[in-house]
Amino acid sequence: MRLPLIVAVAAAIAHARPRPPPSQTNCCALLEDIYPDKVSYPGDATYVQETQNYWSSTCVLSPTCFFTPDVTAEVATAVKLFTENNCKFSVRAGGHHSSVGAASNEGGPVIALTNFKQKDVDPVNNIVSVGPGNRFHEVYTATDAYNKVAVLGRYAQVGTGLLLGAGLSYLNNPEGLSVDNVVAHEVVLANGTVVVASRDNYPDLHKALKGGGDNFGVVTRYDLKIFDYPENVLGGLVTYGEEAMPFYDDLTYNYHVDAAVNDKSTHILPQWGYNGATRQRESFTPFIYLKDQPQLPPSLQPWVDVPWVHNTIRNTSALAPLSFENHDGYVNGDAQQQRTITVYADRAFFKEISRLYYEFAQRWAHIDGFYALHCKMPITPFMVEKGIENGGNVLGLEGIRRPVSILYFGVQAANIEDAPELFKAQERFVENLRDLARRRGLLHKYIMWNYAAYNQKVIDSYGPGNVAFLKRVSRKYDPTGAFQRLVGGQKIPN
Ligand SMILES: Cc1cc2nc3c(=O)[nH]c(=O)nc-3n(C[C@H](O)[C@H](O)[C@H](O)COP(=O)(O)OP(=O)(O)OC[C@H]3O[C@@H](n4cnc5c(N)ncnc54)[C@H](O)[C@@H]3O)c2cc1C
Repeated sequence: MRLPLIVAVAAAIAHARPRPPPSQTNCCALLEDIYPDKVSYPGDATYVQETQNYWSSTCVLSPTCFFTPDVTAEVATAVKLFTENNCKFSVRAGGHHSSVGAASNEGGPVIALTNFKQKDVDPVNNIVSVGPGNRFHEVYTATDAYNKVAVLGRYAQVGTGLLLGAGLSYLNNPEGLSVDNVVAHEVVLANGTVVVASRDNYPDLHKALKGGGDNFGVVTRYDLKIFDYPENVLGGLVTYGEEAMPFYDDLTYNYHVDAAVNDKSTHILPQWGYNGATRQRESFTPFIYLKDQPQLPPSLQPWVDVPWVHNTIRNTSALAPLSFENHDGYVNGDAQQQRTITVYADRAFFKEISRLYYEFAQRWAHIDGFYALHCKMPITPFMVEKGIENGGNVLGLEGIRRPVSILYFGVQAANIEDAPELFKAQERFVENLRDLARRRGLLHKYIMWNYAAYNQKVIDSYGPGNVAFLKRVSRKYDPTGAFQRLVGGQKIPN
């Protein structure tokens, strides 16, 4: 309801608002001298449009300008110019990270990668080359045509920034994390040089980007592995209500330790949400079974033996529609905060976590548009092994002997004014839970970048060896530390 109002106001002031004087817009003005048609200011249609590309309203800041390049050389010119002039700047792909200040800023330029729409499928070598401006439904559509699929996020409108953090996907169980299935990154470095990093060329940079986020450059192309899937697979969304909640954590635990380990063609995203408007819990759980058969395998059957409200699981030959189905309801424009910690899968603790978050959520039901979402998502030892096989990453997950669970906690409010108090309370909740997990001997140190809040210590969580490696790579490819000093987001600790 709030977004159309913003659009209407923005449209009314379009072209009516004077540009700020050059003294305040130096970095944007410098860039505008070179690319007059690609730099937009408040009131310009492109600026207004780019402002709407953020999932959380808290991430909509007031950059001086958006720069919307079309080709890598233009990104290179901009980055070199920003580095040489000490311009604080940001980089944005799909705008779905909820970390404030990561993909925008106050008073500087934002490089919006919106126009990088390359998606070239090489069905012989099983690679899709993807521009960072794509949303995942666009990549699914490109590869669906070949009955092939990359290890992507599961939601249609989410962007390629996912590929710099970790990446939970339909294909995790057989192929590992998304970052481990990137075979090459085209990167613009701080001095404007463009390199293609892979296992053979700049292997240290390639590895650093598998979890190192936006600390090394601007990625202008990802080459991703693609995998065959049968003509038909089973996929869909199952909606549950309160009746299923008593069973939910047992099913989720069994998925972590059984199906995800022993039946790798399965994928579920176990989640439930508490809706402040109805004061009820509900679940919209995505399913996929990457085999051609008419019904779910025995390992997933218990999920449809419990009471469900709506079930769209069907045979399908295309995965893009599933990504739209999953994304339905996740609109841009509300205040959102995501937080995450990692624990070892444990049946009793899973139940306790759900009970505690349910109690927390009920206390905030009075807030306009309140929603609390909770997911438990497995990372199995096999997935970690896959990462090692593919050249390794910097996440520090090596050595797990049993599945860990990425715990996701999201809170949402319609009004941004409610965000500070709600977000602080949610932070306290998650930190208390971390202490509880530690006391139970169930905490794993890893914090997944994709779902972390701005003040969670993601890179620290990768462990001292990986932090030291990331520092070395940063010094080598960005000797003046431009991406540490000038770009926001999760930085390498000192
Ligand atoms: C509805 C929803 C569904 C989600 N589903 C999944 C899922 O299925 N699996 C999963 O693992 N995660 C999922 N996520 C989390 C997601 O991985 C992160 O939010 C991710 O950062 C989104 O990328 P983006 O491009 O949309 O974000 P952005 O906010 O544009 O970018 C995130 C960060 O990456 C940086 N960045 C982005 N692109 C580049 C680039 N090319 N070069 C340098 N820096 C860059 C930005 O500066 C920013 O710091 C989901 C999130 C939401 C809101």
